[in-house]
Amino acid sequence: MKRNTGQDRSITQHWRPATQAVRGGTARSEWGETSEAMFLTSGYAYDCAGDAAARFAGDQQGMTYSRLQNPTVEMLEERIALMEGAEACRTMASGMAAMTAVLLCQLEQGDHVVAGRALFGSCRWLTDTLLPKFGIETTTVDARDPQAFTDAVRPNTKVFFFETPANPTMDVVDLEAVCAIARERGITSVVDNAFATPVLQKPMAFGADVVAYSATKMMDGQGRVLAGAVCGTQAFINDILLPFTRNTGPTLSAFNAWVLLKSLETLDLRIRRQSENAVAVGTFLEGRVPRILHPGLESHPQHELARKQMTACGSVFSFEVEGRGQAHGLLDALKLIDISNNIGDSRSLMTHPASTTHSGVAEEKRLEMGIGEGLLRFNVGLEDPRDLIDDLDAALRKVGL
Ligand SMILES: *Cc1c(COP(=O)(O)O)cnc(C)c1O
Repeated sequence: MKRNTGQDRSITQHWRPATQAVRGGTARSEWGETSEAMFLTSGYAYDCAGDAAARFAGDQQGMTYSRLQNPTVEMLEERIALMEGAEACRTMASGMAAMTAVLLCQLEQGDHVVAGRALFGSCRWLTDTLLPKFGIETTTVDARDPQAFTDAVRPNTKVFFFETPANPTMDVVDLEAVCAIARERGITSVVDNAFATPVLQKPMAFGADVVAYSATKMMDGQGRVLAGAVCGTQAFINDILLPFTRNTGPTLSAFNAWVLLKSLETLDLRIRRQSENAVAVGTFLEGRVPRILHPGLESHPQHELARKQMTACGSVFSFEVEGRGQAHGLLDALKLIDISNNIGDSRSLMTHPASTTHSGVAEEKRLEMGIGEGLLRFNVGLEDPRDLIDDLDAALRKVGL
């Protein structure tokens, strides 16, 4: 197979983002296919025993086994790395596989982590339950305040781990300030960028060391496949992450990688339109509900910071009604918008975090994170926002709002 036909990092890294999203990483086979090929193979054959030995010794380029390398998966990894502006990327079978790998690959007994307290529910399970089992302590902080990170640092702090905007309260973390605090102290900053994607926010441009993704969300964006990714320097990916993932095997399937290659071609279009739709629907809701949290709206306390580090604010926001009864009543009255806990989908989806995504988080931790019984999280899709507003308007009336 001709590898990386027409692709040379010194050229592709200067392509503009929309070009990288369509063409980055494409490696054509001898057939010259225009759309990337799907290599559904677990193994590879060698021309001779010497080639097999040379490949295992690392003296010959090429693939040995799909837990370690796969042409379709590598095309996706190169595309994401280019879009992120990162030296390297490794994909994983899910976002949680990526988050688990990115933490466990670099931490050991006796280390300490400072994490944002407003994290995706399963990420909070990693920091609160999994890491302590291996003798790794975590301090969770209000990540909106950079000083909270400084105050939590200990001599054995190895990693800062946070997401921005954070799920589901839409807290914004000052990337430049927090990543600088990490860098000055030799701490690795790991940013979960699932909500924004590289189209809306490039944490590395603000000093982040590692960017991790649930690619299930905005990147696929059509509710089809689970996937994750970790971006970092060549040294981090090759020397720290790879030994862990090659041997533990959270590998992304070639089929899912292929779906994502297609998804990324339209990411820029989708996420910008969904961000616009979210602002349109959010503006309607502002007058009708007690509180709405979207960094793209001027009413958000961190709107200015979000504008500084994001090019648009994404498809997701949260809003509050009166308690669980009214929240569930509103969900049940929706006719167009689905009740679903996924996000990033091109379909509009709404969920009640306290009884779904964050039901596994203890109540006092939920309240500390800002997840009350009346909070609803809304993923605004690609439908006409006027139809979404009509659906919401009717449902709000039904619950007396
Ligand atoms: C969904 C999500 C994850 C987990 O990703 P999966 O692909 O569902 O495993 C992690 N972080 C954030 C911010 C998410 O939204």
